[in-house]
Amino acid sequence: VSFGYTQVSPQEKTRKVGEVFSSVARKYDVMNDAMSGGMHRLWKDRFVKRVKPQPGEQILDMAGGTGDIAFRMVERGAHITVADINQDMLDVGAERALERGAGEGEGSLVFTCQNAEQVSFPNNSFDAYTIAFGIRNVTHIDRALAEAHRVLKPGGRFFCLEFSTVEWSGLKEAYDIYSEHLLPRMGQAIAGDADSYRYLAESIRKFPPMPAFEAMIRSAGFANTRVEPIMGGLVAIHSGWKI
Ligand code: SAM
Repeated sequence: VSFGYTQVSPQEKTRKVGEVFSSVARKYDVMNDAMSGGMHRLWKDRFVKRVKPQPGEQILDMAGGTGDIAFRMVERGAHITVADINQDMLDVGAERALERGAGEGEGSLVFTCQNAEQVSFPNNSFDAYTIAFGIRNVTHIDRALAEAHRVLKPGGRFFCLEFSTVEWSGLKEAYDIYSEHLLPRMGQAIAGDADSYRYLAESIRKFPPMPAFEAMIRSAGFANTRVEPIMGGLVAIHSGWKI
């Protein structure tokens, strides 16, 4: 595993990811808008449309951070458990939930500190499992996928939104320049933290391409897997079913 261009152990990666998100938690939402030109909102809307949360469903939003996906799903009446390894991100999420009055309608929201690689819920607990821009930060992705499969009910669905591999030439070159040079500078200017954004860019480059990641989801036991590339693979929605 490498971090900031140096090789580190898996334990070290987990610790560094913790540092990165504690450092960016307070600026996380502003940075998302700045870095994606607001596009992350559209990707998240599309993602939740695909998940189709139903009133009364139990949904685990893993790596849920400051709640962007959870707020969109609770509006539709689902019961959302937001799990994240980082308490600072969850704290910002809980504050936002209070400000918005989220979960005060038909749906409900719970925030819990958990590692995706080993979650505390019993087998067959959830109707759906969502993870948005989270899985590439997990040290052992195979363990997280196995846990996702374990906690889903039979018939439950898995949905992952993640940066992927840009396949449109032209956009690919522009994106490489953007992520290598511009992103850390924006991180420095807006959040006073170039290193964290250097890590984010690096973790995007290292993430497996779409066919490889889809194969990992199948290996975890999911059936009927699908990949939906968005903007030439800049972002992709992967899904699968526990049968
Ligand atoms: N899902 C949110 C969104 O779309 O705005 C937050 C995404 S944020 C880029 C990634 C999140 O993954 C961070 O909050 C981080 O703490 C969390 N994370 C990283 N490793 C994790 C792990 N092993 N288990 C659970 N959450 C993890």
